[in-house]
Amino acid sequence: MAETMKTHGAGTLRAADAGTEVTLAGWIGRRRDHGGVIFVDLRDASGVVQVVLNPDDAPASDQELSSLRMEYCISITGLIRPRPDDMANPELPTGEIEVVANVMTVLSPSETLPFQIDDRIEVDEARRLQYRYLDLRRPSMTENLRARSKVIRAMRDVMGDLGFMEIETPTLIASTPEGARDMLVPSRLRKGNFYALPQSPQLFKQLLMIGGVERYYQVARCYRDEDLRADRQLEFTQLDFEGSFWGQEDVLATLEEISTRVTKDLRDIDVEHPFPRLTWHEAMDRYGTDKPDIRFGMQINDLSDVFAETGFKAFSGVLASGGSIRGINAGALGLSRSGLDGLSARAQELGAKGLVWMVKEDDGGFRSPVAKFLSEGELEEIGTGMAAEPGDVVLIVADETRTVLEVLGQIRLEVGQPEGHEELAYLFVVDFPVFERNEDGDFVALHHPFTAPVDVREMSEDPGHAISKAYDLVLNGSELGSGSVRIHDPAVQAKVFETLGISDEDAERRFGWFLEALRYGTPPHAGFAVGIDRLVAILQNAPNIREVIPFPKTQTGADPLTGSPSRVDDDQLRELGIEVRPAVMAEWAADEAAGD
Ligand code: ASP
Repeated sequence: MAETMKTHGAGTLRAADAGTEVTLAGWIGRRRDHGGVIFVDLRDASGVVQVVLNPDDAPASDQELSSLRMEYCISITGLIRPRPDDMANPELPTGEIEVVANVMTVLSPSETLPFQIDDRIEVDEARRLQYRYLDLRRPSMTENLRARSKVIRAMRDVMGDLGFMEIETPTLIASTPEGARDMLVPSRLRKGNFYALPQSPQLFKQLLMIGGVERYYQVARCYRDEDLRADRQLEFTQLDFEGSFWGQEDVLATLEEISTRVTKDLRDIDVEHPFPRLTWHEAMDRYGTDKPDIRFGMQINDLSDVFAETGFKAFSGVLASGGSIRGINAGALGLSRSGLDGLSARAQELGAKGLVWMVKEDDGGFRSPVAKFLSEGELEEIGTGMAAEPGDVVLIVADETRTVLEVLGQIRLEVGQPEGHEELAYLFVVDFPVFERNEDGDFVALHHPFTAPVDVREMSEDPGHAISKAYDLVLNGSELGSGSVRIHDPAVQAKVFETLGISDEDAERRFGWFLEALRYGTPPHAGFAVGIDRLVAILQNAPNIREVIPFPKTQTGADPLTGSPSRVDDDQLRELGIEVRPAVMAEWAADEAAGD
């Protein structure tokens, strides 16, 4: 499409364009003055090109030329010419040419920058977020935004091709039980009442299925008031979809189609499918986590049988109290004695009583602080059971099974995770339990309470062991998203609420509208939601999701750019019928006194 202010993107020019007259507009990245001739790197959204401003060509007044500074927004018109061979820059796609300007106009000057806009310069993240609009000018950030857009576009293409309808659902809704804390919005018209922002469009997409929409999707913003982490923000974006007359296999096939197309579009990698699958139990047993990174083996082995008759007190005690002994063969780590002891310390930090390391020696024996307490037979069985070669390090943890798995699962990641690994290992984890117990020992839904159990009778009789029709998509050890076959029978839904300790009256009061909807010929349905921020971050090799979100919050939920969250005027609060509690005001006063 012809544009009025520029003829080309700066980063699109190539040697074949030499001789063409172009008009470009963008920002001054770098500026070098070579005896009056000024060379600038002109950057726009498409990339960078070198522009020569020679006073002899009179592109602008001398005064204007000498006033140019970094990040001035300028436009130039000039001729593309090849750079002399020895001046070519092979690092830059436009490195074989430069543009010799005969007109230069300053569109907008820039104040002195708070930091230099350069991918090679590290800047404190809070400062980057405070000036996000400048940070976004860095080529790596432009690239991340472009990747995000490409991923979402590929998703929309796939969903359209597969016959899904894009439908928006409301963001001011009633609070629903999806496991996280709701973000609330006070109502002015009905003072004292609140909307919740959706943790996901879960119930609305189910209502759409009841409404006869057989294929729904949405690029949906979701809100959860949880503590932030590297891969978690208060608001995040999901590709949310649902299908009627669908079971698990329909969802997983759709996910394979989405993932392979997105990966091909963005990274030009052909991902093999069907994706491998593990049941939740297998994942926990072999990798100590429900989101295993399967790019490397190092699986957890149960060694409890090997030590069933052991004379080593630390091990026999654990077995007697119902715990287990498990280990991984971490391979040839090449660690010194203190490095190995460091792993034991790390295991303690992670909550285990300790960790035993054993290094397989050339003569077939094991070097380990505990070797003398173990029998010949036990040592031999460890060696063969763990396929230990000379130099390999076997790491063993004996404790409560949950702790053993958690700690070995984490240590496995820390010693085994490949760096700069190009491989993309997608994986489905299926057959999740319906419930887990929270800290108070009460049942909570592992996925969400609208997930169908495999066997309703089993769920009623032994809720702690019941399996659900829930599944996750995992990529390189990150959970990309979850979904499930839903309950479409109101009686089963009521049973799940009952197990969760939600009384009939409470269920009726909070989700009566949904339970009623289920009673009008609900089709069997199933769906999923893919976390777009995480997917883009992994595909872009970004260290955290904030790098692929244009305007993220800090780890404390703040936006240093706009100052949110912020206090509001008393008048605004009064209109909403809200008053800040005196205790909170006292905290404000204390913060202010402390100079916060
Ligand atoms: N609503 C679920 C979530 O956000 C996804 C799903 O079950 O479709 O995790």
